[in-house]
Amino acid sequence: MTEKQYPDVGRQKELRENVAAVRERIRAAAEAIGREEEVTLLLATKTVPPEDINFVIRECGIRHIGENRVQELTAKYGALEKDGVSIHFIGTLQKNKVRQIVDKVDMIESVDSVPLAREIDRQCAKIGKVMDVLIEVNIGEEEQKSGVSPEGLGDLIGAVNAMPNLNLRGLMTIGPVCAENEEYRKIFSKTYQIFLDISGELLHNSNRSILSMGMSDSYEIAVGCRSDLVRVGSAVFGKRHYPEKNN
Ligand SMILES: *Cc1c(COP(=O)(O)O)cnc(C)c1O
Repeated sequence: MTEKQYPDVGRQKELRENVAAVRERIRAAAEAIGREEEVTLLLATKTVPPEDINFVIRECGIRHIGENRVQELTAKYGALEKDGVSIHFIGTLQKNKVRQIVDKVDMIESVDSVPLAREIDRQCAKIGKVMDVLIEVNIGEEEQKSGVSPEGLGDLIGAVNAMPNLNLRGLMTIGPVCAENEEYRKIFSKTYQIFLDISGELLHNSNRSILSMGMSDSYEIAVGCRSDLVRVGSAVFGKRHYPEKNN
């Protein structure tokens, strides 16, 4: 094992304060609607170096992280302190890359088609794993292409539930970047309603089902709309710096 790497002291302070601030705002948003169920804080770690990720795991009690690029996940994977940490895949996933991640992640949140689900099922069968998955829905108020439409959701749920190596746990939505909080509220409420409508189909397993929605700009509103899991990146790690060349 290599020696533990720490971010510099200023960065440590910043990360601690940011995590604490996000937790406090989640708590306040939950309290405001009198909800008692726990909200899971997942940190979206794209472009974040392993030393920062390991710091929030080790020192801030973070237990859920999400990566959204296969290449970045596989590159960082060996350097992460993964004990007791649940790694989620939250990005667009190409079928031909599924094989590279099924042994590394605990949940795939971005299942949005039958062929993708089938490939995850197939690769998991090979390694004797049952993968927790969320279906990504796109309620259509946005241009972004990922996610199944509400109309296609029923068929996809049926297909996923029939796959022996997939364990359907709930829904995820990304949603647009909104100028107004009211827009977020409208989209998240609609997604929650869909989640309720289909919860009978999700609840065939013993675990409570999960609704994953809310990011740095919107997680408090999402909690107010009964999100169970918020995916927060820049509010903790700061603005992302992408490498010059996109790969
Ligand atoms: C990057 C990312 C997030 C977090 O975004 P921030 O706005 O930085 O909080 C959440 N979900 C997904 C799928 C992401 O790719």
